[in-house]
Amino acid sequence: MTKKTVRDIDVAGKRVLVRVDFNVPQDKTSGAIDDDSRIRAALPTIDYLRDHQAKTILVSHLGRPDGKVVEKLRLKPVAARLQELLGAPVAYATDCIGPEAEGAVARLQPGDVLLLENVRFHPEEETNDPEFAHKLAALADLYVDDAFGTAHRTHASTEGVAHDLPAVAGLLMERELDFLGRANQNPQRPYAAIIGGAKVSDKIAVLRRLVETVDKLLIGGGMANTFLAARGYQLGASLVEQDQLDVANEVTQRAAQRRISLLLPEDLAVAERFAADAGREVLDLPERTDNPHTVLEDGMMALDIGPKTVATFTAALQGCKLIVWNGPLGVFEFPNFALGTMLIADAVAKTGATTIVGGGETVAAIHRAGVADRISHISTGGGASLEFLEGKTLPGVAVLQDK
Ligand code: ADP
Ligand code: MG
Repeated sequence: MTKKTVRDIDVAGKRVLVRVDFNVPQDKTSGAIDDDSRIRAALPTIDYLRDHQAKTILVSHLGRPDGKVVEKLRLKPVAARLQELLGAPVAYATDCIGPEAEGAVARLQPGDVLLLENVRFHPEEETNDPEFAHKLAALADLYVDDAFGTAHRTHASTEGVAHDLPAVAGLLMERELDFLGRANQNPQRPYAAIIGGAKVSDKIAVLRRLVETVDKLLIGGGMANTFLAARGYQLGASLVEQDQLDVANEVTQRAAQRRISLLLPEDLAVAERFAADAGREVLDLPERTDNPHTVLEDGMMALDIGPKTVATFTAALQGCKLIVWNGPLGVFEFPNFALGTMLIADAVAKTGATTIVGGGETVAAIHRAGVADRISHISTGGGASLEFLEGKTLPGVAVLQDK
């Protein structure tokens, strides 16, 4: 890692502002925290700061309050959960700047922890307003960024504050940059990427980049439909992005030029409608053709990869040293169409490769498959991990001090 981390600076007795990602999923009616993984992910940094006698000031966003106070998006329940997880008191301030926040900071003793209110209650957060950033920065002596999930945003708490304070990475941020960095610089080979999910348009940039760096590109999910359509297959009512056929063709051609294997589905699990209770039927794709070739009748849709594809993908992953996966290989939310994603999750977990998984739905699928503890790194960043893999410099990372 080329960036300084919290280990490289002296934090004892200092007020340390830590940007964390406590944007936890909440139950729509009760507001209860559905999944506290993001809070748990920040514990190593918080524990480190407590052990080293820092005054820890946590700042985060939650949801999309759009610059105003939204009662349901207060961080109070998060403070309570963090307190349980830490087994130590966590103070909570009902604003992230101003007298309330200043008072709470002034009361901190070395080793104490304070959680500030949702930073997106202020519109100046997302506009990266310098005055607002100065006010946040004035609460602290040092800045630690541990919110990889928002590091692709140029906001006051992810970027602006770092202009006023010595800025370093937290331990979660360090881990993310370390693992994802392995895909960007001198990847271990053979290196395979599995790309799925709904749309090519969401992932054009990462596809263009990966086709230049990987040894194998495995494409499934809704995204594969567009690649198949570009080869002349007619896929009925399947999700196909007609305006992305050129992108699919370019990626296909580039893979051929580089002589890497680009694997697409050989068979598909199809349904008559997009519904959780729709029946599953498996269809083989006929030999590749340059002419329009009807595979699916009108109204039928491809919702998963079939067993032959699972076998081919699984074989392709054997012996790989590095595997990056973003995007489910089918509509895994429907039990009848989860099989492909579940079996590939299992195959990925069983390889001896360094395995990196990113993307909100993909991570959910990994948990559902019960293999999370056998994946080398599960990224906490969806958009941020994609942008990182595209080779972009993330603004929240760029502002951190170099070693
Ligand atoms: P991630 O959040 O992991 O980055 P995406 O948001 O790109 O993944 O895509 C996830 C969604 O793609 C899932 O909700 C899944 O249902 C959908 N999906 C996967 N395969 C298909 C398909 N064949 N047709 C329609 N939707 C699909
Ligand atoms: Mg998603």
